[in-house]
Amino acid sequence: MPDQEVGSEIERLCIEKGMRMTDQRRVIASVLSAVHDHPDAEGIYRRSVRIDPNISIATVYRTVRLFEEAGILERHDFRDGRSRYEPVPETHHDHLINVETGEVLEFQNEAIEELQRQVAAELGFRLVDHRMELYGKPLKK
Ligand SMILES: [Zn+2]
Repeated sequence: MPDQEVGSEIERLCIEKGMRMTDQRRVIASVLSAVHDHPDAEGIYRRSVRIDPNISIATVYRTVRLFEEAGILERHDFRDGRSRYEPVPETHHDHLINVETGEVLEFQNEAIEELQRQVAAELGFRLVDHRMELYGKPLKK
């Protein structure tokens, strides 16, 4: 059977994890599958109600928490008092936050990754995870 019933990528992951999918969860999953920024729950809510006006902010909070606990979403704290979400990326990246605009840039830097492994090893650990956030102001020209 072709992909007839398959919804968004996040929905597929939810089904894989054995999660029961309601219509509202399906909408939130499709919104999250399409994000390329790092929205907070309100941002996810605003996008979700455009598709289904009956979705409440409480449902969005509950659903993102559920997805996070299932390892489908990653939660970030970029120090503005709001949790930000993105689908768990296939390849690791770190973030740089523009403190003037709140814009979030993604980057990968193998030298930083290696340095972190070295630091952990020197302290007697094998690195299994890390968080790296850079906070910056744009260089003026
Ligand atoms: Zn990211």
